[in-house]
Amino acid sequence: MTANLLEFDLDGLAIFCEGLGEKRFRATQLFRWIHQRGASDFAQMSDLAKSLRQKLQVHAHIAAPPVISQHISTDGTIKWLFDVGDGNAIESVFIPEDERGTLCISSQAGCAVGCRFCSTGHQGFSRNLTTGEILAQLWFAEHFLRKHLNTPDRVISNVVMMGMGEPLQNYSALVPALRAMLDDHAYGLSRRRLTVSTSGVVPMIERLSADCPVALAVSLHAPNDALRDNLVPLNRKYPLDELMQACIGYLAHAPRDFITFEYCMLDGVNDQAEHAAQLVDLVQKYARQGLRCKFNLIPFNPFPASGLLRSTHASVHTFARMLQDAGLVTTVRKTRGDDIDAACGQLAGDVKDRTQVQERMALQRTIALVAVPTVSTAASDDRH
Ligand code: SAH
Ligand code: SF4
Repeated sequence: MTANLLEFDLDGLAIFCEGLGEKRFRATQLFRWIHQRGASDFAQMSDLAKSLRQKLQVHAHIAAPPVISQHISTDGTIKWLFDVGDGNAIESVFIPEDERGTLCISSQAGCAVGCRFCSTGHQGFSRNLTTGEILAQLWFAEHFLRKHLNTPDRVISNVVMMGMGEPLQNYSALVPALRAMLDDHAYGLSRRRLTVSTSGVVPMIERLSADCPVALAVSLHAPNDALRDNLVPLNRKYPLDELMQACIGYLAHAPRDFITFEYCMLDGVNDQAEHAAQLVDLVQKYARQGLRCKFNLIPFNPFPASGLLRSTHASVHTFARMLQDAGLVTTVRKTRGDDIDAACGQLAGDVKDRTQVQERMALQRTIALVAVPTVSTAASDDRH
């Protein structure tokens, strides 16, 4: 087995190149070929010495996991299902919006946290993804989109670790992948536009702030420990007080001056006026200790095994108003890609059969109908 170069951040690639007797600047050149140009064939890498290209051909390769399927929604959202072996599939979702293109990436096959409202959680845990499998999702999607949109410019401006899995339970593979996403020789993403979403792995929130501070989203879903214990079982290990303290600590190093709290709206379970009132009390208490936050209410995407229902529009509206009236910035997430099961919590590897011709036609429609933003590197306004 030769090494897959997608497994490395720049430091890792430099060590690999040293092992081949090559200097660090060669690793930088190689890294740019891979991530900025999307190259997978060493023969293409014209400015690398022939001797190095020959060594690479013997000792290395560049490959993403095979794509099992691609589904394109009428709203332009694209979902890819990748085969990561042993019957495991993972998903990535591209969401085009005005002024930005967001890629939602998976960190694990399945998830061990087992939240009640999440279909990935209901699947159970298969395994951690490697750095290369995490990074390959961006490498593949970015270069696929550039090719099909016929643009040399960056298409994906934002990455969210909100696909399958709990990223902070796969910390050692996650951090090099994040570093490569941020690296100016690769994707040059701004730290503010790279978001890790967690169900609340407290010790790893602390480590992330030291190792690789990026934007943080915390999946809260409940205003008290009793309810959160039930919805997000990890709360029994890291209860709300510890989680809030970790969020306050994170803010000292975070690229944004707030934490995003995600709150999945479940009919009759966590969406009543009493829950909103408790939530306001909770964050006001910790605001006195320095907590700054915003709320993102997510309409629940139902799946039969959950036994749960989506909150009504009226209760989402009332809930949002109560938070807003208390001075908390609150948005309601638009559901995207509903028709292709690409919405949050629906990423369960449900393979649908479509022919390649249908797929090609759907892609043409996306390209023709949806103004996918092209974000040139120079245009990113908020880089850190
Ligand atoms: N494990 C991480 C990241 C992946 S889940 C986390 O829990 O934060 C990404 C987001 O989707 C989380 O906020 C999660 O709570 C939400 N989610 C999961 N299942 C959902 C569903 N069925 N409907 C709506 N949101 C869901
Ligand atoms: Fe895992 Fe996140 Fe789903 Fe919970 S919501 S089961 S942590 S992927």
